Amino acid sequence: MTAKLIDGNALSKHIRIEIAQRAAVLASRGHTPGLAVILVGENAASQVYVRNKVKACHESGLHSVLEHYPATMTEAELLERVEVLNHDPAIHGILVQLPLPPHIDGHRVIETISPKKDVDGFHMASAGALMVGQPAFKPCTPYGCMKMLEWIDCNPKGKHAVVIGRSNIVGKPMAMLLLQAHATVTICHSATPDLAHHTRQADIVVAAVGKRKMLTADMVKPGAVVIDVGMNRDDHGKLCGDVDYDGVRKVAGWITPVPGGVGPMTITMLLMNTIESAEHGAG
Ligand code: NDP
Repeated sequence: MTAKLIDGNALSKHIRIEIAQRAAVLASRGHTPGLAVILVGENAASQVYVRNKVKACHESGLHSVLEHYPATMTEAELLERVEVLNHDPAIHGILVQLPLPPHIDGHRVIETISPKKDVDGFHMASAGALMVGQPAFKPCTPYGCMKMLEWIDCNPKGKHAVVIGRSNIVGKPMAMLLLQAHATVTICHSATPDLAHHTRQADIVVAAVGKRKMLTADMVKPGAVVIDVGMNRDDHGKLCGDVDYDGVRKVAGWITPVPGGVGPMTITMLLMNTIESAEHGAG
């Protein structure tokens, strides 16, 4: 078997057409959707991520503001900026790029963002709403993974989904979304003995670990859907995922590539959350 590709770039393009249309409708009503991105410090990877987010906003007709501060910014100064943006009517989404410098408490910063503008979906109010099945912002990466399943007509209902990783931003919300979609969900992590025992039973595997090529072909059930969230570098400095793509594609039914899989979907769902926030604000 050779797995079919779940092309995150193609799906993103498709969804961004809808985003641009909804942004144009909002703009025509005087409610141009606005995203504020705050970056503190000089982390090279973060600078690339925020540039891509701002570029994506411009391409889809969203207003965006990039605020870049030196690593010496204090926590109090950052909290004050967030408060100002919380009250700015032109801003519907606030994103503080993580990681923050060690002297700043990232948790406190995220909790200062108004839940109404928490387009990253990291605020405890958003996490709690997800837990109890209330509508709120979904974290962008798991939201994008769910869109990918929808795109390939894979209904999680009745399927066994195995999520590898239990972080607050990917693994846990991914598991909650799959559960909401009526999958039977297993969450694996670093203390899970015999990971392969679990993944071999999975109809859907989501790998969100951060260890290159750790999911190998012998760990995958033939025909399974494999979603690779991981972003790592191989020995040659090339971007690669958590999945051994060349091996697993011979066994799986569907697979996401890295790059060109979950990555572009994460940005697309950030735009979608910002649109939804602006629509809500516009009534
Ligand atoms: P974290 O480091 O926060 O979490 C990693 C998870 O993997 C932890 O729950 C950890 O378990 C688990 N883990 C570590 N080693 C193993 C192992 N050997 N077997 C099973 N589980 C293991 O990472 P994130 O969730 O933030 O990110 C995961 C990956 O996804 C990273 O590569 C990151 O770069 C990427 N990413 C990609 C995005 C995209 O847009 N494509 C967006 C966000 C992240 P434990 O809890 O026990 O420590």
